[in-house]
Amino acid sequence: MQAVIMAGGKGTRLSSVTKDVPKPMVDFCGKPLLEYIIGNLRENGVNDIILVIGYLGDVIKNHFGTGEKFGVQIRYFTEETPLGTAGALPLISDALSDTFFLVFGDLFLNIDFEKFADFHREKGAEITLFAHPNSHPFDSDIIITDNTDRVTGWSYKKDERKGYYENLVNAGLYVIEKSVLPQSAEEKLDLEKDIIIPAVSSGAVYAYRSSEYVKDIGTPERLEKVEADYLLGVTEKRNLKNRQKCIFVDRDGTINRFVGFLRKPGEIELLPGVAEAIRRINESEYLAVCITNQPVVARGEVTFEELDNINNKMHTLLGNEGAYLDGLFFCPHHPDMGFDGEIKELKFDCDCRKPKTGLVKKAAERFNIDVSNSFVIGDTYADVLTGKNAGAKTFLLRSGAEDKFEKYKCDPDFMAYDLLEAVNIILG
Ligand SMILES: [Mg+2]
Ligand SMILES: [Zn+2]
Repeated sequence: MQAVIMAGGKGTRLSSVTKDVPKPMVDFCGKPLLEYIIGNLRENGVNDIILVIGYLGDVIKNHFGTGEKFGVQIRYFTEETPLGTAGALPLISDALSDTFFLVFGDLFLNIDFEKFADFHREKGAEITLFAHPNSHPFDSDIIITDNTDRVTGWSYKKDERKGYYENLVNAGLYVIEKSVLPQSAEEKLDLEKDIIIPAVSSGAVYAYRSSEYVKDIGTPERLEKVEADYLLGVTEKRNLKNRQKCIFVDRDGTINRFVGFLRKPGEIELLPGVAEAIRRINESEYLAVCITNQPVVARGEVTFEELDNINNKMHTLLGNEGAYLDGLFFCPHHPDMGFDGEIKELKFDCDCRKPKTGLVKKAAERFNIDVSNSFVIGDTYADVLTGKNAGAKTFLLRSGAEDKFEKYKCDPDFMAYDLLEAVNIILG
């Protein structure tokens, strides 16, 4: 495949460390940042690269040349005047393939580009945004999606935010169909305003949720943090080509206070220490994935939309404290039929209701998780048995339900008072 890298950025915020080089050439552990981007693309078989350069572009050209030394083919397009975040694209239209990656040159990333492109193809998308949770969603622009991963809009940080939202942020990395680009443009184009938002209204934009490492190095502090993660091997380990370790966390009684059947966002209250526990997971090599039985949907007491809103309150409260879940998988089913108001098509003996392993399997496939090197933590024996059935190590917590589901009684590998104690035992 092909990639276009926007490398014209000036990087004023980085000026104390960049001096006479454009931002993508900032020194990152002894090499220019752009070398890592190109290296990651090459590892994924992306050898055809177009570099859009501008400010101090010759520094880039002189370093990379034809790309031969770096195992790729590089062509250059020079912006004589800044054309905005996308103004160059229609001008290089003849050189573009039908489908291409667009990468901003101020990112440090280490991702499975093939998995990203597979998702784009499966969805039949015109544009796919690489999206992830971050530790400061309250001051980030948030992507809104429906439950098919289709992007339906944005919640901007500049607007006063009403209600709850999933922690989902645009990383600055895209798969784009050339056909979606405007035919001709002489003036500046803004990628979001002029290309993505019009495509959202035709329903052709999707968000690819990933736990992989993608960070911009916009300030000296961020650069330093990303270099430290790189040296620790965190950036490489998070690449989904590599097997992931995960801490699977139950929801009710583990993340939020147990209230029996939870039917309203107002009933979601984080348990003490939970945000700190999940933050610790986020800073470790483990993924944080929530797996939860929500039979209230099959019972007809909560719609899918209401469940999203309930979960969004959890995401919002965690986000306010700098913590996030890499994934959330729920079972809306229930096996026993014959109650008033129930949703008949959700009343069956499914494969995902804990203690069955469907939710773990779905997450494992999505994030390439090595379940045998992972943990399941919950407040009932149903959680513990899920972990055992899936081949993970297990924790039973005392923080949640009094009724531990005695019918599933089994021996957990560990006992802990609450999620924070469990995570501290795992991470030391
Ligand atoms: Mg529970
Ligand atoms: Zn189910």
